[in-house]
Parts: sequence; structure tokens; C-alpha cells
Amino acid sequence: MTNEEKLELLRKLVAFQSVNGHELPVAEFIKSLLAKEGIESEIVPTGEDRADLVASIGSGHPVLAISGHMDVVDVDRGNWKTDPFVLTQADDGDSLYGRGATDMKSGLAAMIISMIELKREDAPLKGTLKFLVTSGEEVGQEGAEILQRKGYMKGVDALLIGEPSGYLAVYANKGELDLTIKAQGRAAHSSIPALGVNAVEALLQVLDQIKERMAQASASANNDVLGGTVFNIDTIRGGNQVNAIPANAEAEINIRTIPEFDNEVILKTINEVIDSFNASSQAHVSMDVDMDIVPIIGNVDSKLIKLAQEVAKPYMAKVEWTEEGERKARALSKAVGAPFSKTDLVTLGVSGGTDGSKFLIDQPIGFDYLMFGPGSGTQHQDNEWVSKAMYLDFTHLYKELFKRYLS
Ligand SMILES: [Zn+2]
Repeated sequence: MTNEEKLELLRKLVAFQSVNGHELPVAEFIKSLLAKEGIESEIVPTGEDRADLVASIGSGHPVLAISGHMDVVDVDRGNWKTDPFVLTQADDGDSLYGRGATDMKSGLAAMIISMIELKREDAPLKGTLKFLVTSGEEVGQEGAEILQRKGYMKGVDALLIGEPSGYLAVYANKGELDLTIKAQGRAAHSSIPALGVNAVEALLQVLDQIKERMAQASASANNDVLGGTVFNIDTIRGGNQVNAIPANAEAEINIRTIPEFDNEVILKTINEVIDSFNASSQAHVSMDVDMDIVPIIGNVDSKLIKLAQEVAKPYMAKVEWTEEGERKARALSKAVGAPFSKTDLVTLGVSGGTDGSKFLIDQPIGFDYLMFGPGSGTQHQDNEWVSKAMYLDFTHLYKELFKRYLS
């Protein structure tokens, strides 16, 4: 495919407004694109106007699964300098602006292109390249969960997720828990508080206890690759007016988890706190689990990672660094505790989760897993953009990586 055709594909993908939904039209578009090349694919419905897509080329083992998601996060149009759903090239000739440019329609496009080109070349593959295209990654990774549950991960030997890493090889991701803690009390006039039960005070007490238990437990748990547990209380709401005892209050908690203090143990700990509070209080506290994603740690010595490091080298060598770009890349490496390198693909673990947490739910440790895809560190931001040069390089790099893995 020509560079113009590759850019046109990215332009078309960005034009789909698949904001936390509406992935079905994207899946249908990819299906028709693959069908034109003689690649069969299957649409797997995941909800109203939502779907995953699965396609394969080659046969037998090893099976390399490659995966990307079709949904994007919401936009605040007032903060955008361009139309977020029209891929727009900046005056520098390289930055391509659009929602999903980095996360992760460029990764998705590079995978589609690689698959099509391998098919056109009729490349002899020893094994199977299995393309798992997902919906709903940004909110709970439901699309990946459905594919895993339906057995599409059976027999997969290695998993590459094309989320935006840039030239870094991410092989471990923290898990995540999103929880809502709710307190129910009884309203009363604040001049006679004894008639009421104060839900805000109950909530604050429970949050305090949870925080303390979390701090105790995480002080003794650390992971060499991922670091420690991260715990934050991010929203809090309660009460109606200053002279009334509040009957309701709730708070949302976000926890980034590691295997040493995993999701199950954390939920059990928090439930214990809530139960013991309820046993001695007139208020009633409860918990909703809004998101539950396990931490995963892949095999850093896998064939997939070794090959990615070899294949990436020449592409990394021709990156034209700007002063600003290098400063940001160094800062990013420092923030995630990895060495900075312009020449070698550094392996590391990061805090954010991927569909990998659902795909690898039965084998979260030691799988041949790699998150590696084009991106310019602008995911989930206003005026998201991707480097055109990096996007085009990944279309070559992926093809070479898949070919070599399956040779
Ligand atoms: Zn993403």
C-alpha cells in the first residue's frame, strides 16, 4: 500500500465517532476491507451498535494474536483546535491531529495494513496471525472479556496489543479497581441531629478506615516491575443543604493493583472494613465494583519481545529527535522508572491497563505478552495527535515482526 493509502485508512478510522460505543460500523468497515483482500472475518456482537471482530491468516501453531480497540474516549470540542473526527495534518508536516490518532486508531490501522500486505504477498506463514479487534476497551474492557469468554484466546501462544507505547516494550500492566462506596443514613433537621443518621460522617469514617488498611497492606507489598499499589479517593458527594442531616453520601475510589496485593484480596479487605462498620453503626455502608481488571506481567524474555527489539532497532535509529521530543521522552522514562534509550527498545511495566488483562485472565503471569504500538503520548488529551512518521514506520515494523514471528 502507498503512504497515501495508509493515511487514507487512518483518516477513515478517525472519522468514525466511536466514542465509548458505536464500534459496529467500524467493525463492518474493517470486515469489508479485509473481504476485498480475501481475508474472512467474523463480527461478534457485544451490545447495541457494538461489536468485536476476529480475523485470521495462516494456520496451525504458533498462534500470534494481535489486538487493537475501536472505541475512543470522549471529546470536549471547545478545547480542540481542529475537528477531532477529521484527521488534520499540522504545519510541521508530521503531527496528525484527531481523536484516536494515538489511542489507538493508528495502531489498529497499522495492524490492518500489515495483515493485508502479508496476504497480498502470499507470505508463507508458519503458524497463525489472529486479529482480535475489540469494543469497549476504554470502559471496563468488555469487548475483550467477551472474546475471552467465548474462547477466542484458546490456543494463542503470544499476544501483542497495539496500544500506544511508542518505542518502548511494555510487558506488564497494573490492574485496576474502580469502586463506589455508598453510605445510607437518615435525614433530620440539623437542630435535632439525634433524630437522624449522618451519612456523610459515616462515609468519612469508612473511607478513613479503608485508607488506613490499604496503607498497612501495601506497605509490605511491592512488585519489582510494577512498583506498589496506588490508592486514590477521587470523587465524593453527599448531603443537600447545610441545615439538614444528610441521608446519603458516596465516594469513588480508584486503585491500581499488583499481584502481591491483588484485586481479590483488596476487595476482601474493604468488605471486612464495611462489615465491621455496619455491625456497630446505624448507618449502612455498601460497595459497588464498577471496574475490576487484574494486573498482568508477561515474559520479558519471550521470543515476541526479542524479535520486537531486533525489528525496532533500524526504525529507532532513523527517528529525528526534536529537543522538545527528547525532553518529553526522557521525562516519561524517568516517570515510569525505565532507562531512556534512543537506540534500543527498553522493556518496562506501566500503570495503565489494556485489554490484555481480560484476554489473559486465566494466565496473568508469564505469558508472551507485549504492548507495543505507535503513539505520541497524547492519549486521552485534547488535541490528541500522532507522528505521521511513526505511524508509517509501524506499518512496516509490524509486518516484519509478524513475518519473523511466524517464520
Ligand atoms: Zn487505548
